[in-house]
Amino acid sequence: MHVFSRFFYTVLFQAALTLCATQSAGAQGMTKVIAHRGHWTAEGAAQNSIRSFVKADSINCYGSEFDIWMTGDDVPVVNHDASFKGVVMEESPSADVVAVKLDNGETLPRLDSFLQAVTGTSTRLICEVKSHKDKKKEEKLIREAVRMMKEYGLSHRVEYITFSREGLLNLIKYAPSGTPVYYLTGDMTPAELKAAGAAGFDYNIGVVKLHPEWLTEAHELGLKTNVWTVDDEVDMQWCISHGADFITTNRPERLFRLLW
Ligand code: MG
Repeated sequence: MHVFSRFFYTVLFQAALTLCATQSAGAQGMTKVIAHRGHWTAEGAAQNSIRSFVKADSINCYGSEFDIWMTGDDVPVVNHDASFKGVVMEESPSADVVAVKLDNGETLPRLDSFLQAVTGTSTRLICEVKSHKDKKKEEKLIREAVRMMKEYGLSHRVEYITFSREGLLNLIKYAPSGTPVYYLTGDMTPAELKAAGAAGFDYNIGVVKLHPEWLTEAHELGLKTNVWTVDDEVDMQWCISHGADFITTNRPERLFRLLW
């Protein structure tokens, strides 16, 4: 081979290697892992248990998601379902709610107990304010959650998410300035979210696949993008290659394997 050709091919090969390395590092740096309802598939954990949050922290997830409700007597609690094991969160007295056992044997946590238990961890708190029938109660929950985060020194680690349009506006209003607030429902464009003061969207994978342009639009507006709940490897890869900032998943270890 001519000396010049060999030089040319060497340069080309090295450029290709550099490009691959850059893209790989970019993908790793770009997409962060959020454990949906904590790392609840870990041994001894259950959805929305303190242990599931601690387990998400132990595998270095960027964040661990959990859901909050206000009970009938206005005590914030951590649980996903509106009605869980026969107890209606929004209507029942807190004594009945916290008497419920989770599948791992923990009692259903009050928000204050939950926050106190996770103060020593470092993963971010991705706090979903559930959409309440009683919007006054929902607003009260938001004010109380914001107050508790401050009380436990967690305000700098919390990011709020909600399906509730009123909740979105109230979270932006009551949380300290700069606290990220994301919207879950999928019916607002990135421009509408920016105008409302949201940090970005946290949309279902089906919505994001229908509107892949929203990922670019959000980034151009300086917003962040989160996709839920992505457990399938092909979908995870789709989100990574489309530059999603966060993926919320029930399978955080599977996602870490793809990102490494
Ligand atoms: Mg949730």
